[in-house]
Amino acid sequence: AGHVRFEGVSFGYDAGRPILRDLELDVPAGSTLAVVGPSGAGKSTLARLLYRFYDLTGGRITVDGQDIAQVRQASLRAAIGIVPQDTVLFNDTIGYNIAYGREGAEMPEVEMAAKGAAISGFIERQPLGYATRVGERGLKLSGGEKQRVAIARTLLKNPPILILDEATSALDSRTEAEILDTLEAIERGRTTIVIAHRLSTVVHADQIVVLEAGRIVEKGTHGDLLRQG
Ligand code: ADP
Ligand code: ADP
Repeated sequence: AGHVRFEGVSFGYDAGRPILRDLELDVPAGSTLAVVGPSGAGKSTLARLLYRFYDLTGGRITVDGQDIAQVRQASLRAAIGIVPQDTVLFNDTIGYNIAYGREGAEMPEVEMAAKGAAISGFIERQPLGYATRVGERGLKLSGGEKQRVAIARTLLKNPPILILDEATSALDSRTEAEILDTLEAIERGRTTIVIAHRLSTVVHADQIVVLEAGRIVEKGTHGDLLRQG
């Protein structure tokens, strides 16, 4: 499950100022699509449309053949996880921050911490003692650690479709590389849309589209784009 298609998708925030024009994308279930391009090209907008933040001006988006405009918002959003660039965390424990997105504040704290620990243990390959710090309160986390929490929070709902919207762009390159490495394993078998600034961070994507001013100007594998570029 998780075959995503954009069919002739057009969208603008304001009438008369199109942001995306006649966009065609086909992301087979379980594959990774990378969207790269300059700032303002419309990459985040594309991601928000799949999450149905806004209605299209033209065309349609389907998931497994179903027009997302016809799907209940709740089930659509249960199927899609988004990791944004800047994560705002609650001033609380890592466990709470990871579990919050799903069960909300209702879940008993111990259970929340346990769930958080399981997930953060899963994403944390380096023995930083991250999982054991899951119940600590008032943590000062680095940018990289915050993004790991954001990723763990998103993974807790085990979404068949994962959107990484510049999830690692703000980090230093070493931290970025470490997280990308972890993510590669997580993306396997999951439909993933990676929004990125640089081609060098999406080497493993099954297909890459280059978006400029709301249009696809290039498309191919990393190798194809390097040969053309
Ligand atoms: P990218 O992710 O490629 O940097 P965005 O999708 O964020 O591009 O933005 C594409 C265009 O849409 C930009 O011109 C931006 O100013 C505009 N835009 C983004 N969000 C909004 C919004 N909420 N309201 C109006 N215009 C917006
Ligand atoms: P960096 O950010 O370190 O400059 P990039 O990942 O942006 O690295 O680029 C890596 C290589 O891909 C460079 O050789 C560059 O010329 C090429 N390249 C970058 N952007 C594009 C693009 N939009 N289309 C084709 N080739 C590109």
